[in-house]
Amino acid sequence: MEHRHAKNDNTCPSCGAGALHSTKGIEESITRYSKLKAEFTKKIFLSGFLLSMAVFSQRILMNAKLSYLLYAIATIITGYRLVLEAGKELVYEQRFDVELLVVIAGMGAFLIGEAEEGAAVVFLFYIANFLEEYATYKARKSIRDLMETSPEKAVVKKGDIEAILPVEEVELGDIVVCRPGDKIPLDGIVTEGRSTVNEAPLTGESIPVEKKPGDMAYAGTLNLDGYLEIKVTKKKQDTVLARVLELVEHYSKSKSRYERFTEKFSMYYTPTVLALSILSIAVPALRYGTLQTSWIYRSLSFLVISCPCALAISIPVSMVSALTNAARSGVLVKGSRYLEAIASSEVFAFDKTGTLTKGELEVTDVIPIRSEVSPKALLRIAASLETRSEHPIAKAIVEKAKKEGIEIVQPENFSVHIGIGVSGNIDGKWYAIGSETMANGSRLEHEEVVSRLRSEGKTCVFLMDKEGVLGVIALIDVPRAEIIPLLMRLKKLGLKTLMLTGDDENTAKAIAKEIGIETYKANLLPEDKVYVVEELTKSGIVTTMVGDGINDAPALARSSVGVVMGGIGSDAAIEAGDIVLLKDSIGKLSYLIDLSRKTMSVVKQNILTAVSVKLALALLAVLGKVPLWVAVGVGDVGLSLVVTLNAMRLLVFEGTGLKYTEHCAVKEKTLEKQEVNEIFVEAG
Ligand code: ADP
Ligand code: MG
Repeated sequence: MEHRHAKNDNTCPSCGAGALHSTKGIEESITRYSKLKAEFTKKIFLSGFLLSMAVFSQRILMNAKLSYLLYAIATIITGYRLVLEAGKELVYEQRFDVELLVVIAGMGAFLIGEAEEGAAVVFLFYIANFLEEYATYKARKSIRDLMETSPEKAVVKKGDIEAILPVEEVELGDIVVCRPGDKIPLDGIVTEGRSTVNEAPLTGESIPVEKKPGDMAYAGTLNLDGYLEIKVTKKKQDTVLARVLELVEHYSKSKSRYERFTEKFSMYYTPTVLALSILSIAVPALRYGTLQTSWIYRSLSFLVISCPCALAISIPVSMVSALTNAARSGVLVKGSRYLEAIASSEVFAFDKTGTLTKGELEVTDVIPIRSEVSPKALLRIAASLETRSEHPIAKAIVEKAKKEGIEIVQPENFSVHIGIGVSGNIDGKWYAIGSETMANGSRLEHEEVVSRLRSEGKTCVFLMDKEGVLGVIALIDVPRAEIIPLLMRLKKLGLKTLMLTGDDENTAKAIAKEIGIETYKANLLPEDKVYVVEELTKSGIVTTMVGDGINDAPALARSSVGVVMGGIGSDAAIEAGDIVLLKDSIGKLSYLIDLSRKTMSVVKQNILTAVSVKLALALLAVLGKVPLWVAVGVGDVGLSLVVTLNAMRLLVFEGTGLKYTEHCAVKEKTLEKQEVNEIFVEAG
């Protein structure tokens, strides 16, 4: 089969199963498969008919010559391509491939008068090869099915005219029209209309999402019941969908340990097998002075049985199936090695804001500390400083000021102190806002107010000028709904959980207690988070870091696997993670752990089955206990079928899901009830 010889670094030298690693030519692989399938049926019928005629003439008519001829024709039909390929391989690339083993064995069998065996071996090998092609096709097709979610045409509105254009020709800023039942053609912002949209193709989440003007809409998602006009913000190749597909396709850049192992293994394997079989003919021949037919036969059996097809196809098929399953559920895994790492992770470290919590903070208290400022003035300065910051705290403060109708001015000399706060000039005066670390040195008044706020799980930020702290703003963030059942599940699985936060000790403690996370580390700067993660991985503990990609990217990069939340709207998040949860749902982590563990167990089952069955067959064949055709039937066709089917279970795997026990429900209620009480405490 041609694909085996693609000159591709990834192609497994022995079995060519590396074709799966190559991502070019999905279409090619699919058309080739349909052609092969048609040919396969014809050849199998014809060759099968000839083989049975051959058996008939051998056993019933006792016509040895006729049967030999029939066996030979049947073998040529299924095997001529094999010979061409093995020859090409040997001459042009000086490579000993599996085909060569089969060709030698087949010809050898005919030469020593075992035509029946030779014909059966080639016939069965042909079937095994077809199965391998089928597995490749299946994996490719599931990727293409994902791709088919991307629409090809868009209805573009210019003035009063609507035109149907291929999506490639739609320009940024164009308005596309989307009617109920249409797929959204490109990423963009809703400018008109209201609707609900099924984002399952991207997020795996089938609960429809409401869309109104100002919301982002994504290519490939389905507009359900309303009319939408969308201003295009991304070209076809830059949409979230396009990036997801690209990454799924290119997963091969990072191979799992198992895959690298089998590739290395195969490089030395075929020559070793060839050498051994030559020895097993030569040694007895030297000993007895003539060629020993029985040893030739054993040697040929050994050659054929040694073909490691099943072993080589089993891992890529498993990985592609698992990655496709993940992509369909809105989990983007950037390589099979990250699945492997998740499966063996012992520690799960979480960033607090935006990961354990929703990151949708709300200002609850604005407390002036020095009498010269009013709460309003405090909020005005704070919001003006924060207009330039992307941090969830900043957004909340700006939001609050807008709600209060407070005028916001642009800061000058603005600078961000990552993981601490921001500073700049307002009305020509220097101010800063941030954590206690930033306020370091200035003595805090109202200490007891601050510690009470913190014990309620609120985050306190301090506004200061050159003379010291002016006031405190407290914010509350709500833990994510799935976090409690998720942490319970992780605990049940015996995994360690750890919260990393730049927030204060007391706030961290209150939140840790509320959600039931085992340990926490507070007052961390971004580099401290990196240090914690590095210490863990250095001591050999496989550590998964879960974050939102906002100022925790360094720690994500340094962990064994970085899982990023809520990537759908954010290119930065998609960039930062090894695994991206496209939907803002941290509960998917549970599914991810299940899937990764299942994948690793399928891989191990496949390797174990393939190796042990092969070894047993090889042994039996060398001892002369198994006819060649049985060995090939079981060892190639049978095994390939078994490992492929086993791997394909991963395509439909669903995971256990999270259990919301009563305990979680109660907890969730108390969280919701936590009212946002505004206490504008006047100074003095
Ligand atoms: P987390 O570790 O909880 O995700 P960060 O590392 O983003 O939090 O921030 C740590 C702390 O630094 C915050 O709790 C806050 O006190 C302070 N901080 C960071 N950025 C800002 C900002 N833009 N405005 C005010 N405070 C900030
Ligand atoms: Mg954060």
